[in-house]
Amino acid sequence: MKKIFLILGMTVATMSVAQNEIDFSSVDEFFKLADKLETGIEPTDEEWKQFFDSHGYSVSAGKSPLRKKIIMKMMNAAFNPNCQSLQDSVFTLFYEKIMDNPELMLSKMTLENYLDMKNHFLELKTFRNSDIFKTIEADAKNRLREFLVNPVDSLIIIPSISVLCYEYEGQSKDNGIVMDLNLLYKLSYLGTVDFLAHEMFHTYRRNFTNQNFPKISEFTNQLDHLQDEAIADLIDKKENIWETLSMKGLPAPIADMYIETYNSTPLILARLDSIICSFTDNKITTEQFNKEIKNYFFFGGHPNGYYMAKLIKNAGFEDELKKYFYNPVAFIKLYNKVAKIRSEYVFSEKFISYLEDMK
Ligand SMILES: [Zn+2]
Repeated sequence: MKKIFLILGMTVATMSVAQNEIDFSSVDEFFKLADKLETGIEPTDEEWKQFFDSHGYSVSAGKSPLRKKIIMKMMNAAFNPNCQSLQDSVFTLFYEKIMDNPELMLSKMTLENYLDMKNHFLELKTFRNSDIFKTIEADAKNRLREFLVNPVDSLIIIPSISVLCYEYEGQSKDNGIVMDLNLLYKLSYLGTVDFLAHEMFHTYRRNFTNQNFPKISEFTNQLDHLQDEAIADLIDKKENIWETLSMKGLPAPIADMYIETYNSTPLILARLDSIICSFTDNKITTEQFNKEIKNYFFFGGHPNGYYMAKLIKNAGFEDELKKYFYNPVAFIKLYNKVAKIRSEYVFSEKFISYLEDMK
């Protein structure tokens, strides 16, 4: 009951806010082509073009031929009865063995999501027209507004919001936010509001960040992601990380790896520190350094960033964490301050001074 009042309160409070329509053209294209594939007929080039030109897919995959290829292949694998062997070959891959192969990882996650969708395809078609989509944007904006310290209302502007069907995920791009239909179907209403508010945070943050910082090197790029996800995760992740992962319906091996990465945060930070020190001491070449740093934080920085953000929050520094939400160097320095108090891994002075030179 409490939840219902909360939802009503949030909706009434934001009724005056102008809303975009949430775009479902990619979901409609998906249903159309999946139905065709189920009869064993491969869509024409023109139909695939129309599919990828629909708003959600153009935001998500417009600049990524690899993502387009994966979606096309996995739709065939999941829905086309003539592609059973392709389905078997991807389905039987072990996540543990493909962790360092982004194409196979994404293929398997996409396929599993599509196969899961088939179990409740009719319900998903009904859900696409659900009334919840009339209010989530306003409620998510409110959720973000409440989360931020000193929010600037005029900058909580989202170019577009679309729903599509790919892996259990969402993305915030320059031209809009996309979210997977099956994931939203599984989340509660408040879970969906939080999830969208998380993606909105990324869009909002871009108004304040130094756009050159992530471009300095792979290292600064990773730190920027780390802070971005660390703070966004405070919006939609539960205190107990297992709860969030089971809510999202992640496959068990992935959830296990996620938890292991989360629990190994002190070791992962210590190794990063040691790589930086080796580099500044000229013990490794720039080439070796870049190789070590590339994709250093698994899962886009989520588990390690969240570990750090939670440590800061639980030590009573949440407002300070949010105040400098656009500054990765301030994030690391605040983490270090708290880590000293909490006897967690503390970055070396050499690491911090290298970081300050990056500003
Ligand atoms: Zn995120």
